Amino acid sequence: MIKEKDIEELIEKLEAHHNIDKEELVTLLALEDPSMIYQAADRVRKKYVGDEVHLRGLIEFSNYCSNTCFYCGLRGPNRTIKRYRMEPEEILQCVKYGASVGLKTIVLQSGEDKYFKIITLCKIIEEIKKLDIAVTLSIGELSTKDYAELKKAGADRYLLRIETTNKELYQKLHPGMSYENRVRCLMDLRELGYEVGTGSLVGLPGQTLEMLAQDLIFFKKIDADMLGIGPFIPCENTPLEREKGGNVEIVLKMLALSRLILPDINIPATTALAVKDKAGYIKGLKCGANVIMPNIGIDEYKKLYKLYPGKVPDNPSEAVNNLENIKKLILSQNRTIGKDKGYRKKILN
Ligand code: SAH
Ligand code: SF4
Repeated sequence: MIKEKDIEELIEKLEAHHNIDKEELVTLLALEDPSMIYQAADRVRKKYVGDEVHLRGLIEFSNYCSNTCFYCGLRGPNRTIKRYRMEPEEILQCVKYGASVGLKTIVLQSGEDKYFKIITLCKIIEEIKKLDIAVTLSIGELSTKDYAELKKAGADRYLLRIETTNKELYQKLHPGMSYENRVRCLMDLRELGYEVGTGSLVGLPGQTLEMLAQDLIFFKKIDADMLGIGPFIPCENTPLEREKGGNVEIVLKMLALSRLILPDINIPATTALAVKDKAGYIKGLKCGANVIMPNIGIDEYKKLYKLYPGKVPDNPSEAVNNLENIKKLILSQNRTIGKDKGYRKKILN
């Protein structure tokens, strides 16, 4: 049994130096009362990235996917969902709306949809950049050349979660994909000068605290600029539909520890966290998060982008990631809304 005093010392050390080993991480992840970790993460968040919460306007432009990730409702073999693709004009309309309400970053996300040619995506990116808006892509694994072309067209950031750093679990959940290629993608993105976001799904069947600690070590090692960490939410018509799903408290511990090891990065309070827990955004913002991603897509399509259930209620204005709701929520927490593009302001330790 580790004494309370030792825990205190460990957290103090982490708060001051942002370094920790795997065993110590497991100890902290297993803590029954994590309030000390949360408070330390909140202090570090305030010190390094301030009270601003950056809004990233999310556009889910296609729900076609050729992959078969076990947890995801968009997986190719799921024939029960209606598929859609947005036209480039529709995407740009959403971007213009985002710009008109002051958003400075747009996130273009989709399944792995080979229908969109790189040149089409490049043209869309070029149009968006004319509006002086940062572009984040979240469109999965591509070749080095494709990533380079998208960068050249103006893409600034890329989100590609590693999902789990445990190779065996990764392979089990991603038939036909390879862990090595996932890492190759992240390395390419870094090399090409993108701000790189990765992250994990928390609560996957078979995932242990050791594996989550290993995820945190990986984030530190690759010096991720952004980290998206959310609970796995079981989705009907997928191989994991009867599994239990992630626990909010462990997600919050992962967020807080991420902030403590990488103090100056951008960390969203994720939509999945808010879907799993009504107070999820608020809890996330108090545990180190400084970003939220409102959905600025088209209502008709939002309903069809079913990575997991609960994302879009019958009335989309009641969705957790509705822009107006999010703005109110941020202000209610005495936080401010970021006005610039919200790049990582790297502070070297
Ligand atoms: N196809 C792209 C982007 C869309 S999926 C990609 O995979 O990178 C975006 C994220 O949704 C994934 O990284 C995954 O972590 C998350 N996701 C998928 N299914 C989920 C589920 N059932 N519960 C919670 N998050 C899920
Ligand atoms: Fe496709 Fe992404 Fe879902 Fe995997 S997580 S099935 S790549 S949309």
